Amino acid sequence: MSLLIVGSIAFDTIETPYERRERIVGGSGTYCALAASFFTRPMLSGVVGEDFPREIIAFFQNRGIQTEGVLIRPGKTFFWEGKYGYDPNQRETLRTELNVMAEFIPSLPESYQQATIVYLATIDPDWHEAILNQVKRPKIVAMDTIQFWVTHKTESLWQSLKKVNIFFANDEEIRLLTREVNLVRAGKKVLEAGPSLVIVKKGEHGALVFGRDFIFGTLAHPCEEVVDPTGAGDSFAGGFLGYFDRAKKISPRTIKKAVVAGSAVASFVIEDFGIDRLRRLTPEEIRQRMRFFHHLVSF
Ligand code: AMP
Repeated sequence: MSLLIVGSIAFDTIETPYERRERIVGGSGTYCALAASFFTRPMLSGVVGEDFPREIIAFFQNRGIQTEGVLIRPGKTFFWEGKYGYDPNQRETLRTELNVMAEFIPSLPESYQQATIVYLATIDPDWHEAILNQVKRPKIVAMDTIQFWVTHKTESLWQSLKKVNIFFANDEEIRLLTREVNLVRAGKKVLEAGPSLVIVKKGEHGALVFGRDFIFGTLAHPCEEVVDPTGAGDSFAGGFLGYFDRAKKISPRTIKKAVVAGSAVASFVIEDFGIDRLRRLTPEEIRQRMRFFHHLVSF
């Protein structure tokens, strides 16, 4: 299989109760592609401004990420600012500047059009159709979103869901989207709209996976100190889809192992600011943590 990731490549300013970091590299596409790169060679599609460091694109390439679809446009790179309180599951978006992303509809290079798994990371749902129309024979379409789009483009999101097989959301987003407080009912509502798998990320409480006749849950890795939760959701999706991409066949067992792979990568990301932990992460560390997850939930 082959995995295409379409998402934001960004500068983020992050504030936690302990520290503030200005304009560090982030973005849903960035986190997802780096996480997936531990399992496969993902194709990344996105846009950056002329202010984006070329060495980061070179770093993506060194990690085996295909960057032919990363465009550099005159103007400024997408910017996001978020603030976390003492509860790392709660965050406030202080600023979103779409910049070069505002006018951009991805035009996929020929090689990307052959992708079999397409991941629409947190991007404007109005782009989804135009992107999917360019992919010749996708087997799996996956999508994530963020509160900003749930609030601003609710109808477009429901439309997109009709074409999606796997939907990722955190608990707050799916409650907001479905107007259901109960996560099981919220999951069911989304399943009725199209997807065959709904993955609800619950931060430090793990993840719940709903299928039509399938349910699975995992805990999150018990972590004493969360330094920066940004990107955990996208890294979860990247680890999940990267694992999925490499797997020979799709079965409930593959789905469960992919959830654990996603949880393992995400558990590292939050140990440092931005992509710093992903930069020094090794495949052996991921394997060890996946084994730890196995012990954590076996009885
Ligand atoms: P996560 O913590 O996994 O939900 O994702 C955080 C990343 O999403 C940050 O690095 C942001 O740059 C990016 N992001 C935030 N808002 C948006 C948006 N409206 N569109 C695209 N990407 C976004």
